[in-house]
Amino acid sequence: MQYIKVFTYTVGQLQTNCYVVATASGQAVIIDPGDDADYLYRQIQNEQLKPQVIVATHGHFDHLGAVTELKTAFNIPFTIHQEDTFLVNRFRSSTLHFLNFDPGPAPAINYHLTNPVVVGNLRFTILPTPGHTPGSICLYSSREKVAFVGDLIFAEGGLGRTDFRYSSSEDLHHSLEKILSLPKSTTLYPGHGPDTTVAAELPFH
Ligand SMILES: [Zn+2]
Ligand SMILES: [Zn+2]
Repeated sequence: MQYIKVFTYTVGQLQTNCYVVATASGQAVIIDPGDDADYLYRQIQNEQLKPQVIVATHGHFDHLGAVTELKTAFNIPFTIHQEDTFLVNRFRSSTLHFLNFDPGPAPAINYHLTNPVVVGNLRFTILPTPGHTPGSICLYSSREKVAFVGDLIFAEGGLGRTDFRYSSSEDLHHSLEKILSLPKSTTLYPGHGPDTTVAAELPFH
């Protein structure tokens, strides 16, 4: 266990967690680079990591803000679940609406997520976990006992919003069951706030 390193960078006005997960040889996946591309780029360079791919857990703008710049800087692809393409397309208008600035065009999707995501000797199973958005996913490694859960579940009983038109609280509860049935020692890394474990969250649900 723990052949990997997880770097957590909290970025942007909505305090989104960007995770950079690296193997021992430094190959890395960037998850949810929400904002502050220059800062993220410097951190990744300082750690001498070699990012291979950018994955978004879902299509909300606060998880996508630095995608285009990091894609270009590292010359790597960006992937997201097909069902959240419509949200990626709304990236510019959503950022304008919620944060009142123009972030430039939506990031280009290089390909839609396929299962698994493999970076060096690290293998993530993609668990479809719709509810917060239709294309929400979790990246899960059974070997490492980690899951990157996006805005599905937060520490101390928090749940993702389902008040958007395209959300489904029924789906979210099914997705929640899926995550809470992972081994209890699994560490959960949410899109906002501190990390937690399956064991710590079970009593809340
Ligand atoms: Zn979200
Ligand atoms: Zn979010």
